[in-house]
Amino acid sequence: MASHIVGYPRMGPKRELKFALESFWDGKSTAEDLKKVAADLRSSIWKQMSDAGIKYIPSNTFSCYDQVLDTTALLGAVPPRYNWTGGEIGFDTYFSMARGNASVPAMEMTKWFDTNYHFIVPELGPEVKFSYASHKAVDEYKEAKALGVDTVPVLVGPVSYLLLSKPAKGVDKTFSLLSLLDKILPVYKEVIADLKAAGASWIQFDEPTLVLDLDSHKLKAFSDAYAELESSLSGLNVLIETYFADVPAEAYKTLTSLKGVTGYGFDLVRGTKTLELIKGDFPKGKYLFAGLVDGRNIWANDLAASVSTLEELTALVGKDHLVVSTSCSLLHTAVDLVNETKLDNEIKSWLAFAAQKIVEVNALAKALAGQKDEAFFASNAQAHASRKSSPRVTNEAVQKAAAALKGSDHRRATNVSARLDAQQKKLNLPILPTTTIGSFPQTVELRRVRREYKANKISEEEYVKAIKEEISKVVKLQEELDIDVLVHGEPERNDMVEYFGEQLSGFAFTVNGWVQSYGSRCVKPPIIYGDVSRPKAMTVFWSTMAQSMTARPMKGMLTGPVTILNWSFVRVDQPRFETCYQIALAIKDEVEDLEKAGINVIQIDEAALREGLPLRKSEHAFYLDWSVHSFRITNCGVQDTTQIHTHMCYSNFNDIIQSIIDMDADVITIENSRSDEKLLSVFREGVKYGAGIGPGVYDIHSPRIPSTEEIADRINKMLAVLETNILWVNPDCGLKTRKYAEVNPALKNMVAAAKLLRTQL
Ligand code: GLN
Ligand code: ZN
Repeated sequence: MASHIVGYPRMGPKRELKFALESFWDGKSTAEDLKKVAADLRSSIWKQMSDAGIKYIPSNTFSCYDQVLDTTALLGAVPPRYNWTGGEIGFDTYFSMARGNASVPAMEMTKWFDTNYHFIVPELGPEVKFSYASHKAVDEYKEAKALGVDTVPVLVGPVSYLLLSKPAKGVDKTFSLLSLLDKILPVYKEVIADLKAAGASWIQFDEPTLVLDLDSHKLKAFSDAYAELESSLSGLNVLIETYFADVPAEAYKTLTSLKGVTGYGFDLVRGTKTLELIKGDFPKGKYLFAGLVDGRNIWANDLAASVSTLEELTALVGKDHLVVSTSCSLLHTAVDLVNETKLDNEIKSWLAFAAQKIVEVNALAKALAGQKDEAFFASNAQAHASRKSSPRVTNEAVQKAAAALKGSDHRRATNVSARLDAQQKKLNLPILPTTTIGSFPQTVELRRVRREYKANKISEEEYVKAIKEEISKVVKLQEELDIDVLVHGEPERNDMVEYFGEQLSGFAFTVNGWVQSYGSRCVKPPIIYGDVSRPKAMTVFWSTMAQSMTARPMKGMLTGPVTILNWSFVRVDQPRFETCYQIALAIKDEVEDLEKAGINVIQIDEAALREGLPLRKSEHAFYLDWSVHSFRITNCGVQDTTQIHTHMCYSNFNDIIQSIIDMDADVITIENSRSDEKLLSVFREGVKYGAGIGPGVYDIHSPRIPSTEEIADRINKMLAVLETNILWVNPDCGLKTRKYAEVNPALKNMVAAAKLLRTQL
């Protein structure tokens, strides 16, 4: 029985690649320095897998930015604005595409399926001249070979590459990206020939789009592509890897009938129905790569359960043709548990990061081959038992309360228009009220204060004094700017999820549990390991302090349950919705405490609600149902006069607009300015929105300062489709990452634009 790893994190156990990249980008180190760090990381990754006994070790899953951008480089599909003149693509062109340069903006970036990883979207049109312009795949194969490791080179499959692309600007709407298949396959043939010549015996094509809802025309593209590649691939073993969900029945048929393919990889963690398809019909003589070790989470595998699945599969495909694998690339999990110095041993025993998952994959393969490592299995079983029975995991009162929510409904008693009237009597706001989303710039000084307080280097008293000063500064600034509904600026928060997680029970935090988000950027998701409860109020102290500094309404500022859930590593011993309900109940307590303390406007951010949407349409309704329900649970108990705001990042709401309405918030602020037309078109098409709405009037991701005229123009566009009395004026998102030199003039112009329009209405 063999073992296989789909892909591995690139950043390194202590984010070595991040620091090397950023130093190179800042001009503080050379390309050679960067290449050296990258090569060292690759070699240690290969060595680690080979030492662990993994048979099929991937190469070319390392990247200095993104594997889809690597494929764009491989194909020479550089958009003309980067003035690439041919030849092998170097760092210059590569990083310009990824990050832009002084004269041209970057290519677009978007989320990789339903993960928090972002890829660089290829921009293609009928004019693109493809050429074999990056030899990275073969270079890395040879590099590993020179180190004594024979690897499986991994390529993004040709069909997924095209399906993940977008038509370049100005390309006719009727243009079909799949029509480019004939043009990219010759380049794929060249790289395949190179890999063969270098001695590769296996090749892996990642075709994760096979898990999406694809029509027959798209499915046919897979059959066509691999039929076309068949002769080039002869002599090679070919693995087609899928991940992130089950493969729909039609796609499964297409996949298992592809020409020239030797093996198929499936995600058996998220793909709950794939096993049935395999049992129903698996092609004779082909290899099954069974993705049983979860690449998207940090829990230790249930080895006993995996063994029984593997035994079942052995009966179907035979020992020789079954390969134990990860559910997807380990890119989406943390790197190495060894560097977690602050987690206690009990929690640590429940976890496995990428480095530990490799060992698990190998242990499973060996067990099936009759060489079970009894001690390893015993300690794994012991860890699972301890987690099941640990009093830190189970809180019966919470379990009961959350269970009681299932199947019930939670709504505020009065409808939104009556509530808005009651709130207006109390708040007395002008039309086109102005507000911001929550955070104000986080200065170096502020970060230092928080860090020193955490490390016990300054006293609580000193800390409170410093934060209080910051809040007071932010309140004064907003009053000077004449903003209507104020925020306290969130100076006490490092991160909008971590801040709450740290105060809730059932959460644990890592020191090095980083996961790549895009380029050199990583996130460190909290771990939800137990039932969630709120030992005491979390924000009331700061919010009431801020409110006491002004006569204007001060927004209480909370992160919603769905966002906390979607940005954490979530326990898998109960359904996600149950964990979400538990968080909702904790936030509900906080909302009610804020109300009691005299806060009349409370914002509950659901920045990540949209991104949790499942990949398959058939699962949307269920997700939206419990996630929207969770949001309503948090605020169904407040009085009519308490105004509930919510905020969402990212555009692309059109498909979930009914669910947004169903959240029944009094006011929603939405990121919008990078996709104005898209959001507003929903309302133009007649969707009725009766609650307050503030589509962002300027982009906070850019240092650019929008003029009053420009903002006024934007508001006018909104007024053309939205009622005057429901429109709010606010930026796209929090101001945390901006500088005061940008924020001051931008907000000044924003308020001026609102005032200008008020006189014209
Ligand atoms: N209130 C948060 C802030 O302003 C919201 C951030 C977000 O939506 N990502 O920082
Ligand atoms: Zn936002």
